[in-house]
Amino acid sequence: MKEKSPKKHSAQAIKDSYWDYQFVHFDPGSVEEADIAKQNFGAMARPYYVDIIYKCRRCKDEFTFEVKEQKVWYEEFGFHVDAHPVNCVDCRIKVR
Ligand SMILES: [Zn+2]
Repeated sequence: MKEKSPKKHSAQAIKDSYWDYQFVHFDPGSVEEADIAKQNFGAMARPYYVDIIYKCRRCKDEFTFEVKEQKVWYEEFGFHVDAHPVNCVDCRIKVR
């Protein structure tokens, strides 16, 4: 396992790093630096991944889009960085 960077980033620094972070609830303690070179982005990359709390569009429950999931989405699957899940994991499985 890779060591985590000991340097933590402030909630404000995270907020300023990516436009969508102004509008979402996230857990600043979960922040990890992203590998921008692997991301698929337009004007703005996501320099940090951070656990984000979204409300599921289907069941209205809150769910967390986790750092490790984001790494897979944006660095392995090559999803555009502006894309994010709108449904919780349970609902995503149900609608399949
Ligand atoms: Zn749901």
